[in-house]
Amino acid sequence: MKVWAVSNQKGGVGKTTTVVALAGLLADQGQRVLVVDLDPHGSMTSYFGHDPDSLTSSVFNLFQHKGQVPQGLAAALLLDTSHENIKLMPSSTSLATLERQSAMQGGYGLVLSRALTQLWDDYEFVLIDSPPLLGVSMINALAACEQLVIPVQTEFLALKGLERMVHTLDMVNRSRKQALPFTIVPTLFDRRTQASLSTLRALRHDYADHLWQAYIPIDTKLRDASLAGLVPSRLDNSARGVLAYRALLRYLLAQSLPRRNKVA
Ligand code: ADP
Ligand code: MG
Repeated sequence: MKVWAVSNQKGGVGKTTTVVALAGLLADQGQRVLVVDLDPHGSMTSYFGHDPDSLTSSVFNLFQHKGQVPQGLAAALLLDTSHENIKLMPSSTSLATLERQSAMQGGYGLVLSRALTQLWDDYEFVLIDSPPLLGVSMINALAACEQLVIPVQTEFLALKGLERMVHTLDMVNRSRKQALPFTIVPTLFDRRTQASLSTLRALRHDYADHLWQAYIPIDTKLRDASLAGLVPSRLDNSARGVLAYRALLRYLLAQSLPRRNKVA
């Protein structure tokens, strides 16, 4: 089972879109995919047709068990989606209270990671969507994953958010055996705007080692898909956004191969 998280301490940068697109592409290839919504806003939960305001159980339930997550609880929380190969661990608005409650207590950093071990045999991929703020949820996402994707909107001030995210990562890495590998993905790219072009240039200059060399263009079909709750991979195959996500997936899969198998 491979676990990837998509995070950035900034909203509206394409985190949820990235999770849904990658999940859809993997699921179309026949992979069993679990998507985990750790954002209290529950955009991804809504995307897949469930209402985060009225769900009685959600990923929040895991956090009511500080030490061991009871056997079977993780599986019991999963919901079906419109794609037969994608299951959803939904968010709910109660997740927002988590940040307040547990910030004082600590000891909640590995809850998701422990819960996922119960699902080891059931999924090839777990993709985690995280909230745009540093807190218990994001720490759980970073602790549970083996690869991190950081979408960065190619827009003014985007680099500030990225700096914060990389700083958070440094902090998290102090308690990991190995530094968490990460890939920066330029998103919402509009070649007609100076802001997009100059942000891309700055990323290439400052973060060359961790940057995916291409970008996800602005594609209204992706926005429409999110309104319709349609998994992007089911869009017209020639949609530019879908083609870009397909290339990104190939890159991430190559990155996640064990190092000795990597072609130099
Ligand atoms: P986040 O999860 O970081 O807040 P979202 O993935 O929800 O960001 O994206 C924010 C908004 O931008 C959504 O309305 C989404 O449909 C839209 N969007 C995301 N990526 C693209 C894209 N490549 N082209 C057009 N619209 C996009
Ligand atoms: Mg989101």
